[in-house]
Amino acid sequence: MIETTMQHGDLLISGLVEYSRKVFPEAKIVTWTENGARDTSFADIGNQGAQIANALAKLGIGVGDRVATFMWNNAEHQALYAGVPSMGAVLHTLNLRLSPEQAIFIINHADDKVIFVDASVAPLLSPYLQGTPNLQHVVVVNGPVEALTAPDHITVHAYADLIAGEPTTYDWPALDENAAAVMCYTSGTTGDPKGVVYSHRSIYLHSLLVTSTTGMGLSNRDSMLAIVPMFHVMSWGLPYAAMFAGSTVVMPDRFLQPEPLLAMMAATKPTLAAAVPTIWAGVSAMLDANPQDITHLREVIVGGAAVPPSMITKFDGYGVPIVHAWGMTETSPLGTIARPPAGIEGDDAFPYRVTQGRFPAPVAARIIGDNGEELPWDGIAQGELEVAGPWITGSYFQPDGNVTDPAKFNNGWLRTGDVATVTPNGFMTIVDRAKDMIKTGGEWISSVELENVIASNPTIVEATVIGVPDAKWDERPFVLAVVRSEDDADVDAQRAYLEGLVPRWQIPERWSFVTEVPKTSVGKFDKKRVRQHYAEGDYQILGQPQE
Ligand code: ADP
Repeated sequence: MIETTMQHGDLLISGLVEYSRKVFPEAKIVTWTENGARDTSFADIGNQGAQIANALAKLGIGVGDRVATFMWNNAEHQALYAGVPSMGAVLHTLNLRLSPEQAIFIINHADDKVIFVDASVAPLLSPYLQGTPNLQHVVVVNGPVEALTAPDHITVHAYADLIAGEPTTYDWPALDENAAAVMCYTSGTTGDPKGVVYSHRSIYLHSLLVTSTTGMGLSNRDSMLAIVPMFHVMSWGLPYAAMFAGSTVVMPDRFLQPEPLLAMMAATKPTLAAAVPTIWAGVSAMLDANPQDITHLREVIVGGAAVPPSMITKFDGYGVPIVHAWGMTETSPLGTIARPPAGIEGDDAFPYRVTQGRFPAPVAARIIGDNGEELPWDGIAQGELEVAGPWITGSYFQPDGNVTDPAKFNNGWLRTGDVATVTPNGFMTIVDRAKDMIKTGGEWISSVELENVIASNPTIVEATVIGVPDAKWDERPFVLAVVRSEDDADVDAQRAYLEGLVPRWQIPERWSFVTEVPKTSVGKFDKKRVRQHYAEGDYQILGQPQE
């Protein structure tokens, strides 16, 4: 028996905070405002983080207590990311676009003691507070406290007053690296929100991947436009990875429309950017109308939903490579990233770039068939993707003990609910979410593949596909689409485009053209709502079902 001579060294967020404030004075958080950019150095983020910790300690917040945020991406949110977990409390990022019922459920379920809220969204939060009896304090950030209306059991503070005069250092506790650091609920695209709790260790290791060249290669030379919200899987881990690497982060605050995003890019010239496909579809439509050089971006990281291959081609045309990635709230989120194998360039790389990519070393993966058997990585066999690893959740949070629901876990593996194939050299393709696959006359259609082909028609702005009941075939695909101009709302022409691109039996009969496809709180097509509207007869259906 031989023992290692290595030291242990707990992987803690306080370590990242202290390191980044000391060695990266040049790195900053750039927050977009009505009047352009506002800069905050990492040194100042560290100072504010410590001030927040001192102020929270005075309010009685201690190790393990939940401190929530109801905020956009901005410097103050970054300071909370720094200070709250470092003091041992747990940062709970609340999704700004939840329904009132979901928000109240989540605040109570997580037992939040304090909420920091941006003044611009305080009116959204106010009505929830009657339903949250255990919440004690609300701190209003970036605007007047009058923006919030709160019942008597809650003390309202102004952020600036709360931290004013507090020391800019804090004696960070020597936590166990496995301690809870940040919690986030799934956005409930396919069910009720479920709580995932990240640890200091999981966040630290995930940051290593984001900064590595197998991940995003985020470095001290980068400026990252973090469009993906800090309430959605920790903005894909970027706030912490930036502290690790000393990268500047450009944060859009509430300015998430294509026009301000492009203004932000023109002003700050980021080298990287990260967002879901629907954001890039909007940016692309705007770029086509008003061309702008965006080649300062060395890469754009896109995930959270399948990236249509036509979008990758489109961005290649702008001179900016899209890098496709897959993940979930449960996976911190980076589960795969599509970087073509060595020696494969140009057009030959395209088939790799449209996949969801390879699993990084710490993420174990397998695909499981209908009878529970493990399927081969042959690029053909389709089964449910299961993953495991140090930044993959092993359970869901419950106040009286975390749970490993068998519908979501299989002997320590997370069941993703995604149907996937994997090639022998490890490139994973999501065929569809299991719940979104369409079974027509006994054959399966992937709603994602069909959406991708439909979206490759230049007359389509955006389109989603769901399965709907059909008397003859049990289920058939229904397309809900936004078209470029009224003339394009032509079912025959849309169907004709699909001829030869998908098998004839897959070509949808039922179409409806609308001004916007419903989106989830994190900007994905909201198929749950589309299904509901369809069932309630809200769509004007064009096209004839086959007899
Ligand atoms: P929610 O489940 O509430 O939508 P998540 O953001 O955790 O919230 O969603 C994770 C799911 O999003 C994955 O299980 C998968 O179905 C989908 N997804 C994420 N990235 C991709 C991608 N690159 N391609 C296809 N689907 C993706």
